[in-house]
Amino acid sequence: MRTMRAAVLRDFSLGIQLEDLPIPEPKPNQVLVRILASGICHTDLHAINGSWDKKPILPLIPGHEGVGVIEALGSKVTGFSLDQKVLIPWVGRTCRTCSFCSSGNENYCDRQFNTGYVIPGTHAEYATADFRYILPLPKDIDPVQVAPLACAGLTAFETVKKLRSNDNKTLLIMGVGGVGHLAIQYAKEFFTRIIAIDPSAIRIAQAKLLGAETYSPEEWLSLNPRPLVDAAAVFAADPSAVTDSMKALRNGGTLALVALGKNKELSLPWFELVTRGIRILGSHVGPISTLKEVVQYHHLGKAKVLIETKPLADIRIAFEELAAGKNNSPRLVLVP
Ligand SMILES: [Zn+2]
Ligand SMILES: [Zn+2]
Repeated sequence: MRTMRAAVLRDFSLGIQLEDLPIPEPKPNQVLVRILASGICHTDLHAINGSWDKKPILPLIPGHEGVGVIEALGSKVTGFSLDQKVLIPWVGRTCRTCSFCSSGNENYCDRQFNTGYVIPGTHAEYATADFRYILPLPKDIDPVQVAPLACAGLTAFETVKKLRSNDNKTLLIMGVGGVGHLAIQYAKEFFTRIIAIDPSAIRIAQAKLLGAETYSPEEWLSLNPRPLVDAAAVFAADPSAVTDSMKALRNGGTLALVALGKNKELSLPWFELVTRGIRILGSHVGPISTLKEVVQYHHLGKAKVLIETKPLADIRIAFEELAAGKNNSPRLVLVP
């Protein structure tokens, strides 16, 4: 029997452990993918800590930003071939019948199976994936660069798509992490002024190099007068980032909530929200159609992910560093 190295979570108290497991057989609608790169997302930390109400299914192989090449095809797979490079995202399978699935918004389907959360993920040497939810990739694309697009890139691109309009010229970005540093790059085409706020001096320096006007939260709050923005996107899991963003909006401005906050409830100034006509929207990853767009965008060289790589064997260290916020680069990618 052929085996693979995989990062497995069997018990929340044990954390992630490397194991040798049998290489999975693809089911009729699945392909078997030999993983070349697998991006780490904050959701992986929530999965291994069991920190959300909806717990992952154990044992679990986390990881939902996988790039690899197809090594085997299930009997019902069409449109893919052996050796083809593909991207495996968070939305691993959905009901295919609800109004969201039928309208190309499958990321809002209530009956979705998420990669690396309820179905085995990509922090392993091999993974299986439903061919209807993976994206074929150009042959020449760098697996390490493209992996984070499956979640971070998709999330950032979808948010910018929702906020861009002729009325919106200025954008506030709260949090310059894996998602925020990409949103700055995508937003440049549509916004004339991008303001980025982050408590980390490293992230501020990176945002500045990417073309944003930057502030620490303290610097921002001490500005007098403070500029008003047309739209704001909150990529920081911090309630004060939400309230500060709301205060920064012009009347009629739009607030996009993207980071999944640690607090279950959010407190907002009711009176101000109503009288100033503020619009609030949530944005969660994106559909596969947007994933295709963001991959093309990077393939054309219009944006770049700031990345550090680590071998899969160092996954525990990678998670510890991510939890501590120690990394120089906003995104980490594991390479088997
Ligand atoms: Zn993610
Ligand atoms: Zn559905």
